[in-house]
Amino acid sequence: MEQLSRRTVLAGMAAGPAVLRLGEPQKRKVGWAVLGLGSYAQNQIMPSFKDCSDSKLVALVSGHPEKMERLGPQYGVEKHAWYSYESMHKLIYNDEVDIVYVITPPSTHRGFVEAAAKAGKHVCCEKPMAPSVADCQAMIDAVRKAGKLLQIGYRCHYQAHNMRAVEMCRKSLGKIKSITSDHGFNMGRGAWRLDPKLAGGGSMMDIGIYSLNALRYLSGEEPTTVTAKITNPPGDDRFYPGMEDTVEWTMTVRSGVHLKGTSGYSWQPGKNRFEVVGERGTLFADPATFYTNHRLTLDGKEVAVNGNNQFAAQMDHLSRCVRDGGKVRTPGEEGLRDIRIIHAIYESARTGKTVKL
Ligand code: NAD
Repeated sequence: MEQLSRRTVLAGMAAGPAVLRLGEPQKRKVGWAVLGLGSYAQNQIMPSFKDCSDSKLVALVSGHPEKMERLGPQYGVEKHAWYSYESMHKLIYNDEVDIVYVITPPSTHRGFVEAAAKAGKHVCCEKPMAPSVADCQAMIDAVRKAGKLLQIGYRCHYQAHNMRAVEMCRKSLGKIKSITSDHGFNMGRGAWRLDPKLAGGGSMMDIGIYSLNALRYLSGEEPTTVTAKITNPPGDDRFYPGMEDTVEWTMTVRSGVHLKGTSGYSWQPGKNRFEVVGERGTLFADPATFYTNHRLTLDGKEVAVNGNNQFAAQMDHLSRCVRDGGKVRTPGEEGLRDIRIIHAIYESARTGKTVKL
């Protein structure tokens, strides 16, 4: 534990005795290694460490040395803490690193999560957790065997508007009748997202998972059946069996709330929204799960919410669990549940039958 410096104590005293007390130890920031320096890592995650109160970036893991040459100095990560995928087992000797954040295509998640756990680290892994239920279970087992924590990067569970929506669903909307959620955009060519071997599937795995996860966190219920349909536009060679475009599905839950989701990879304009119809009002979010500019209305009137940096909030949550103890809000089991439902959605679309969960 770092002890308070004299300057920090004085600054704290100037701010008032409630802020800092003399002799109270300052909690250390938990060290993160970012693995995979692609778009999401560079544009959302790495810049968010500046807004973290409990997390700091201390190492990089990449297959591209030139990215580390550029990003290392930019983020103050020194060369001794740069690793390749082949040398990442040496993370075990770097005590500054507590957590490895895996931000690579989904089919690579399992291998990297297992390697990070083997190096004795806690792990955060991006969504979708992995292509198969077996992969997800293996990841959960590997991290548990190492005695470490696993978080899936479901940032919306840490995003202020989404959390307010959940609170309103539980406390102020009365009995909920129906929830719908739609997520889709127009996927460009050349991306790994259009390669099912890397992505694990099509729109459902990548963007439809936001609709699915929102239906689950807004209702607070787990589906007992799913019924789904997939439509691939004729003549569009981006899509074929195993690489789906539009998915529409309904789910039944014990309370009887009607749950309906959609997902798409050929939608222009895209959709990013959910709607909750309750006895005492209709809650609508659009954009619902973007990176910024979230908007929530109740019966058409703006719900005032103080926005937050959801990426920083997600990382700080895991850091506090690691440092202070506590349960991870979005553990591996949460990622596995979505993957199990997505496979039931695929099965229902393939067979034309309702699938029990
Ligand atoms: P990207 O293509 O921009 O970056 C992927 C990175 O993985 C690259 O640096 C690439 O070099 C590396 N990589 C490692 N092994 C690879 C392999 N075998 N094949 C291809 N690339 C490999 O992708 P991205 O948009 O940064 O997405 C990365 C992960 O983050 C995905 O799991 C994605 O679903 C997730 N993601 C999450 C959010 C979110 O809002 N939570 C947003 C975007 C992406």
